[in-house]
Amino acid sequence: MSTKTFASHADLEEKQVSFVQLSEHAWAYTAEGDPNTGIIIGDDAVMVIDTQATPVMAQDVIRRIRTVTDKPIKYVLMSHYHAVRVLGASAYMAEGGEQIIASQDTYDLIVQRGEQDKASEIGRFPRLFQNVESVPPGLTWPTMTFTGKMTVWLGKLEVQLLQLGRGHTKGDTVAWLPQEKVLFSGDLVEFDATPYAGDAYFQDWPQTLRNIAALKPEKLVPGRGAALSTPPLMLTWPTNSPMSSIM
Ligand SMILES: [Zn+2]
Repeated sequence: MSTKTFASHADLEEKQVSFVQLSEHAWAYTAEGDPNTGIIIGDDAVMVIDTQATPVMAQDVIRRIRTVTDKPIKYVLMSHYHAVRVLGASAYMAEGGEQIIASQDTYDLIVQRGEQDKASEIGRFPRLFQNVESVPPGLTWPTMTFTGKMTVWLGKLEVQLLQLGRGHTKGDTVAWLPQEKVLFSGDLVEFDATPYAGDAYFQDWPQTLRNIAALKPEKLVPGRGAALSTPPLMLTWPTNSPMSSIM
């Protein structure tokens, strides 16, 4: 990894995709600093965390999932509302997806800013939206919302969807596998990349990272960058503040 760049201004090269298994049920689809997708393969169904930016890009995630399981991809979790995370959702629904889950705060952000964010992200970062013509008109709407905490059982596998505080947006949601201590953080945590901060809550973000650290994750799939799988994980706040070392 070389010098840090603002994620969305990162270089123009095609990124190398990695699809790695982190635990019995957790996988990470990462792309050298471009937006990641998390995958949880439960006993009877699959959950995808963040969709990729377009349906065509999501097809590559589905293709890789199909190399390891034929279980139905029933659930899509939106860690937050940004277009680059959610506009691939229709690909999973076309494959039999049943629910798109988000926090109520994320739903509210879609209402308030979804159209504006979609136009702005596609306009500013066209490289991140491959085959943008495959994105259907309109926005990606959750079919199920929650506040604070929701548990989804994939057979015997417990998947906790948690709002641990505001940070990257007011709707940030993480997915947590308590049995395997794997965390999918969305853009609350980045590895070797800097997140977009136009919707951020800087006062709240360090405490939210503390709340993530308190779970003691052993493996973590960040919003961007490689999956982290070597405990103890370090979550750092990129300033000189007293809170710069969280864990
Ligand atoms: Zn984001």
